[in-house]
Amino acid sequence: MTDKPLVAVTGASSGIGEATARAFSAAGHPVLMMARRVDRMVAMDLPDTMIREVDVRDRDAIAAAVTDAENEYGPTDMMFANAGIARLADIGRQDPAEWDEMIDINAKGVMNTAHAVMAGMMERRRGTLVMMSSIAGRKVYPDHTVYCGTKFFVHAISESLREYLSAYDVRVLVVSPGVIETEVLSAVTDAETLAAYKANKVKMGGGIGADIVGDLILNAYNLPQNALVQEICLTPTRQTY
Ligand code: NDP
Repeated sequence: MTDKPLVAVTGASSGIGEATARAFSAAGHPVLMMARRVDRMVAMDLPDTMIREVDVRDRDAIAAAVTDAENEYGPTDMMFANAGIARLADIGRQDPAEWDEMIDINAKGVMNTAHAVMAGMMERRRGTLVMMSSIAGRKVYPDHTVYCGTKFFVHAISESLREYLSAYDVRVLVVSPGVIETEVLSAVTDAETLAAYKANKVKMGGGIGADIVGDLILNAYNLPQNALVQEICLTPTRQTY
């Protein structure tokens, strides 16, 4: 059993969430891991974890998972609202069902996740919310329309939460990565958009590893509670757009 505080990660079954769960676990933290693919999280075989099948669209399921983990490991000191889906597409031909899915998961899901731990952090006057945005939450791309909308949403709520929660000494860090090697492209159903994305990725020499993002989040978290990295914007060196 570790004496480090509990941290929680949504979308812990692959990519950046998996890498971040691994980084905090290696640093000795118990980790609440949430995603829909439980088998993937079980296969990671990390010590001191609580694994919960959670869809971030289900506010009650996140809250229940947090309660279970806190009963076992104590209060959540860091929540990474990471789960997201990138249905990138030409907006002129995209099925609106894909907009609904992205808005529900990337925007409402992130707010649901923050909400599950916010009151406790305010009461304890400590804690860190890590909010997953994207470089697509800083600038727009014509074939990322609704995805960009969801990530601009994350930026906006994070800026507002940061101001609101600063009086409670709770930190809000927004993460805005460029191209990271994960399974994120598996959600792109529009063949032309996918081909264009992949061609750009080749031009920039490929994406960078998710472990780099996980380690950066851990390093930012490890600063004293009165020091806040407000945003991590991390891209491959050759990514200029
Ligand atoms: P992955 O596809 O590898 O990981 C996405 C994670 O989100 C999975 O663990 C998946 O788990 C989880 N997830 C998706 N939908 C839900 C849901 N409804 N409920 C719970 N969990 C869900 O991609 P990334 O690691 O790249 O993506 C993580 C985040 O990083 C996303 O928000 C993405 O937008 C963002 N991002 C990624 C970039 C990149 O280049 N890779 C760049 C900028 C931002 P499961 O399917 O098991 O539920």
